[in-house]
Order: sequence, then structure tokens, then C-alpha cells
Amino acid sequence: MLQSILMSKRELLVRLSALSGVTYVLEKLGRPSVLVLTHHRIGDASGEPFDRAVFSASAEEFEAQLKYVKRHFKVLALEELEEILDSPATLRHPAALITFDDGYIDNYTTAFPILRSLGVPATFFLVTTYVGSSTVPWWDEVAYSIRHSSKPKLRLRYPAEYSASLNGNREAVIHAVLRHYKLPGNQDQNRFLQELEEATGVNRPAAVPQRFLSWDEAREMRAHGMSIGSHTYTHPLLAQLPAEKQLFELEASRRETEARLGAAVTALAYPVGKPTAFTAQTEECARQAGYRSAFAFDGGVVNPERFERMRLPRFAPSAIAGQCRFELATAAALRKQLFG
Ligand SMILES: [Zn+2]
Repeated sequence: MLQSILMSKRELLVRLSALSGVTYVLEKLGRPSVLVLTHHRIGDASGEPFDRAVFSASAEEFEAQLKYVKRHFKVLALEELEEILDSPATLRHPAALITFDDGYIDNYTTAFPILRSLGVPATFFLVTTYVGSSTVPWWDEVAYSIRHSSKPKLRLRYPAEYSASLNGNREAVIHAVLRHYKLPGNQDQNRFLQELEEATGVNRPAAVPQRFLSWDEAREMRAHGMSIGSHTYTHPLLAQLPAEKQLFELEASRRETEARLGAAVTALAYPVGKPTAFTAQTEECARQAGYRSAFAFDGGVVNPERFERMRLPRFAPSAIAGQCRFELATAAALRKQLFG
């Protein structure tokens, strides 16, 4: 009995998914568009000492998502997308671009073999100073400190007052403190992390193994059809920097990546990517630094009839558990174009 109830619920979800699904929305859209998916890490988040929210999918979920995207869309290499942006009328079929931000090592060890086996290209946006390193970025450090604290309570004063109990759901506290970090008043990353260390009583993690893919690995991925873009030099919140520092982040990253890969770097993904993470000035700096396109991270799809080249929309399958929800989220991103 229980099983039959479960089955019918599942069937209902599948039917709902089909009704509101990608095929339906694609039929309603007058013109094909480009869906840009953003991933961070691929793998098993349970037991992860750092930020679990940056896991977009397990290896199995990722493979299922790719198969689904491949069935409904022509999956583009970055260079093909740039050609479409140059002449939008050439886009004849619904297309998708698979992207990864940050360049975690699992992009190479887990995602790359799956992409290769399915013959699907993807674009990896690397943070120059993280490449090949065991860097623990701020979001991972925040998660690590809160998860390992033996204090009953957390109180932060910078950039604003924040307090929470550590006796309950720590994942929720991690999420809230990451939002706190992104407040416009946070102009000093070291001060923030220093105060967090004192408040949690947890020191920054000592030596950890390689966490980000190396230049050799990036070159190997390129040799097998993957594209590499920039995700800045040190992954700052660009909107909080003066123009000259923004320009440095963007220029230094492009130059070094080009030198290491022996190839042009034409695309950029803004760190964090939400509307508050970059400004019109950032877009101008990106143009000045020599980028031909730049990606935000705020949902929606690229409409070839009206798009902003330095503010291309992407959406995340991250935090979406299960294939059905992935399919619904994909349909929702497309519907945003349909209904505004
Ligand atoms: Zn990032």
C-alpha cells in the first residue's frame, strides 16, 4: 500500500514535470535561446568539512543531468557561444553551455571524465591564484570554522552585529554567515576572517591536499575540447573594489591564464555573480581588460534577441536534489524568458 502511494506521488511529479517541463516551454518560446548552467563542485557533500553548499551534484546526478541536457539542447563549446553572440541569427536550435566556477580539483577528477565519456564540452572559470593550490577560500573557511567550533554561541561584530546559537542547525548558521560576509560593509576580508577565528575558537585549517586543478590539468582538459575562462585573480567581490583594483583582478588573471595555456582567454565569470557582486563599472573594466563576454549568476537564459554581453545570465542546478527538481528548475529558467 505504502509503496503504491509512493509510486503514485512519483508519477504525479513526473507528469507535473512533463507539463511544465522543458519540452513544453521550448515549444512556447518563439526563438531558440541558450541555457547556461553553473556548477561548482561535483561529488559527495556529506562528510565534507568545508562548504557543502558549493556541491552542485553527485557524480551520478551530474551524469543524469548531462544526459538530460544533451537530449534537449545542443551543448555548445564557449567558442561556439561567442560566435552566436556575434551573429545571433545563426542560433537555430535550443542550446546550452555547461560552466564551472572556481576550478575545484573534482572538476578534473570527477566531472571531466563524465563530460568526456558523453562527448559534452564545458567551460571552466579559474581563479588564477587558486590554480594547483590547496587554498581554502573564504566560504570554505567560514563553513570549516563554524562546523568545528566547540562554542555554544557565535557572535560577530564586523561588518555588522550578528549572533546565533551553535547548538542547533549549523548548516543554517553557515549559510547566514556567508550572507553576512557579502554585506556591502565588508571591506576587509582579513578582519572578517580574523574575528570569525576568534569567535569560533577555530584556527584556519592547517595543510590540506591540493584543492584546485592545476595548469597541467587545465591544459589537458583544453586538449579534450574543454574551454577555460577567468574567474578573476583572487576571487574578490568586485563591486566592493575601486576601479583600478577591479581592473587589476581582471587583467592579471587574463594575462597569466593566457600565458599558462598558450591560448586566448575571452570570457569571464564574476565571483558570486549576483547583481550586488559587480557593477556597470565592473562591466566596463572587463571590456577594458580584453574580455569579449562575461557571465553573471542570477538565473534566466541568454535570449539571442536581447542580451547584454557583459552580463550574460546563468542558473544553478546546485542545491537541487534529484533529477525531477533539476528538470523543473531548467524549465523555470526558460520560463523566465517567456514571461519576464
Ligand atoms: Zn566563485
